[in-house]
Amino acid sequence: MEKTCSNGHTFFKTSNCSVCPLCEKERTPVADFLTLFPAPARRALENHGIITLERLAATSESELLSYHGFGPSSIDIVRRLVI
Ligand SMILES: [Zn+2]
Repeated sequence: MEKTCSNGHTFFKTSNCSVCPLCEKERTPVADFLTLFPAPARRALENHGIITLERLAATSESELLSYHGFGPSSIDIVRRLVI
């Protein structure tokens, strides 16, 4: 049976497990650094797939600031993380 999760992934429901495997895969490597950000900024990063320090370092500050929920105080956190 095909299912679509809340993030729009389509996957085949197997046995009695209805957890989206793609979301699970994305969830597992979430790094500790995300917990340093306030919830709105953390959601903004997650929504843009920035769930590793490598991705964070590769994203410009102006782009981060364009994300909804990501403010200047979160940039300070980024600067401390990414040197
Ligand atoms: Zn999903």
